[in-house]
Amino acid sequence: MTVNELIKKVFFVEILQGLALTFKHMVTPAVTRQYPKEKREPFPGSRGLHALVKDAETGKEKCVGCGLCAAMCPSQCIHIYTSEDENHKKVVDRYEIEVLRCVYCAYCVEACPFGAVVLTDHFEYSGYTREEFYYTKERLLENWDKYMAGDKGKMYLEKFWRPKAVDFGTQQVTKEEERTRK
Ligand code: SF4
Ligand code: SF4
Repeated sequence: MTVNELIKKVFFVEILQGLALTFKHMVTPAVTRQYPKEKREPFPGSRGLHALVKDAETGKEKCVGCGLCAAMCPSQCIHIYTSEDENHKKVVDRYEIEVLRCVYCAYCVEACPFGAVVLTDHFEYSGYTREEFYYTKERLLENWDKYMAGDKGKMYLEKFWRPKAVDFGTQQVTKEEERTRK
């Protein structure tokens, strides 16, 4: 045994070091949040409950019923029913998502060429029946008003799905903005 080791043993150096660490943690604030009393703001672009985007001018859904989102969905939880109106224009009669089967991959958002479906940052939802998680077109449009009101929806599409947002006439991105985002 070396002198150093002997000193450590005689004066309980390692035990004291351990106790010092314990005391240090007793007086420093905890990093754990006491959810649900303490909440943080959701990160922008969080993948929460779905919404169908409302067209700002008409107030109707932007969805045209092309079915790409449903084709891409790995959980096959999107159901779309369409018909033709008298002008032979496709009408989205029903657009439904079985939220309990969703894995929040956002492939539907990525696949949509019209930026017509989004995942909002609302994640605190619960219910007692499966039906409560079966979201119809009307409920999905309500979600847009509830969770993506104002500029929030526009910002979401520009920031996270920018190529499509630019294609479909939201704010154009200048070369300078492009550089600062990188
Ligand atoms: S987030 Fe993924 S699993 Fe959920 S509806 Fe969209 S494509 Fe389907
Ligand atoms: S949400 Fe988009 S991808 Fe899905 S059916 Fe509507 S327009 Fe097509």
